[in-house]
Amino acid sequence: MKKIAISACLLGEKCRYDATDNRDDRLLAKLDGNTLIPFCPEDHAFGSPRPTMDLIQTEEGIKAISNNTGADLSVAVEEYAKHFFDKHPELDLFIGKDRSPSCGVCSAKLYDEHKELISLSETGLMAKEAKARGIDAVDAEEYDL
Ligand code: SF4
Repeated sequence: MKKIAISACLLGEKCRYDATDNRDDRLLAKLDGNTLIPFCPEDHAFGSPRPTMDLIQTEEGIKAISNNTGADLSVAVEEYAKHFFDKHPELDLFIGKDRSPSCGVCSAKLYDEHKELISLSETGLMAKEAKARGIDAVDAEEYDL
C-alpha cells in the first residue's frame, strides 16, 4: 500500500475556483487500495469559489498572479505546500491535477508579464515543492497510462 498525496478535486471535493470538482473515477479505480492524502492549497488559502490565477514569469521568478487583482498569491500556496509536506514526510507519490498553476506537475501554463504564453509544461507551485523534496510526482492524466 502506498501513501499518495493527491489533489482533492480529483477525489470529488468541490474545491475548484468555481466550486466544482474534477472527480476522476478512472484514476480512483486505479488507486484503490492505497492511502490517499488529499490537499488543496487554493481552497485553503482563498476559499471556493475564488478568482483564478496564472503562473507569470517575473524578474523575481515564477509567481502565481491573481487574474482579478494582479496580486502575487504565491506565498500562500508555497506556505501551504511546505506545511503539508512537513506534516506528511513519508509520501510515495504526488499526483497533481494537470494544468493547475498550483498542482500541475509538467502541464501548467506559464505566461510572460504581457500575458503571452511561454510554456505548456511548467510545474505548479505546490508540485514544485514536492519535486524539491524528492517526492515522485506525476500529473493525474499521465498516471499509469
Ligand atoms: S487543482 Fe489543486 S488547487 Fe486546484 S482545485 Fe484541485 S487541488 Fe485545489
